[in-house]
Amino acid sequence: MSTEIHGYAAHSAEADLVPFAFSRRELRPDDVEIEILFCGVCHSDVHHVRNDWGNEEYPIVPGHEIIGRVARVGSDVTRFKAGDIAGVGCLVDSCQACSPCRHGQEHYCNENTLTYADHDRHDGQPTYGGYSENIVVTERFVLHIPDGLDLAGAAPLLCAGITSYSPLRRWQAGPGKQVAVIGLGGLGHMAIKLAKAMGAQVTLFSRSPGKADDAYRLGADRIIFSKDDAQMAQAVSTFDLIIDTVPYNHDVNPYIATLKPDGTLVLLGYLGPLEPTLNSAPMVYRGKSLAGSLIGSLAETQEMLEFCAEHGVTSDVEVIAIQDVNQAYERLLRSDVKYRFVIDLASLRNEAT
Ligand code: NAP
Ligand code: ZN
Repeated sequence: MSTEIHGYAAHSAEADLVPFAFSRRELRPDDVEIEILFCGVCHSDVHHVRNDWGNEEYPIVPGHEIIGRVARVGSDVTRFKAGDIAGVGCLVDSCQACSPCRHGQEHYCNENTLTYADHDRHDGQPTYGGYSENIVVTERFVLHIPDGLDLAGAAPLLCAGITSYSPLRRWQAGPGKQVAVIGLGGLGHMAIKLAKAMGAQVTLFSRSPGKADDAYRLGADRIIFSKDDAQMAQAVSTFDLIIDTVPYNHDVNPYIATLKPDGTLVLLGYLGPLEPTLNSAPMVYRGKSLAGSLIGSLAETQEMLEFCAEHGVTSDVEVIAIQDVNQAYERLLRSDVKYRFVIDLASLRNEAT
């Protein structure tokens, strides 16, 4: 038996999100049901809703930065009990058999299941995300939220946090390393905070001069206004690692020039052919690399949450009511958010009663 719950959904790429009633599956033995308290608004939600990546099936209930309270658990669940504070990120399942899954890299499983805009691998039903009252997720994909983290500020850690943390760890951000971040939005502000907490020297590249004060407050040591050719020229051969969070096509060549020999630029945002194309000469002559990275594994997500609790790192959030989510999307598209919108799902419960 399943019960009807409420959420907000997009019914086409052009339409606003509107109230939507649907049902969640009855608990399987390994399922955890979470009453959602807060859900972050990621730029990926906008990409999905607007069909930027193609092949979307509607309705879409977005949301993959989920924090809530465990309401019920299935009979086989051992790691969670009713009342625990729990988190869910971008994935709710994977095949558990392929090489990435067997090596704790379920985010690189070809058959993993997205938290929304996907289908459950057992019953084929559409997955619906965190802009809703509750969610049912297999225990393996549920994270423990350490005590002491502000819950609204912790929600974005489930995507923006891990997506920034993983490449910073992989390319060893830390003392003595020069790390730059391109774009001060949800991912960018987490990348600055995390790189700083790891002990690196941090620079922000931004198109928006108005964000300078915030960037220093968040932990940046230096800001480069990327439209200023003189500032870009001064930064040539400076960085060990650049975290690129720009959501749309952009010229990466001027940023590659600011890498030291052997340095790496990691794309997190834009998916698709680069225009202008990448000049390979700095790769060959100076051993530079262009890489990409997708969220992080479950184990690394749990590690990141513990790191954030230890270092007092959460997201700077604007908490909104779900009724304001369409305005939030418009503001996100204008890069006008400080620095993550987080939906307080109490606003949905109040509407539903
Ligand atoms: P966001 O909050 O909108 O921030 C993006 C920032 O990029 C903006 O604040 C802006 O910063 C800069 N920017 C925006 N448009 C630009 C343009 N056309 N050219 C240059 N700079 C631009 O977005 P987000 O939530 O951080 O997400 C960033 C991207 O990462 C999205 O594409 C999202 O889908 C993707 N993402 C990837 C993963 C992954 O696993 N790889 C996970 C989550 C999200 P300034 O104003 O400072 O220039
Ligand atoms: Zn996301």
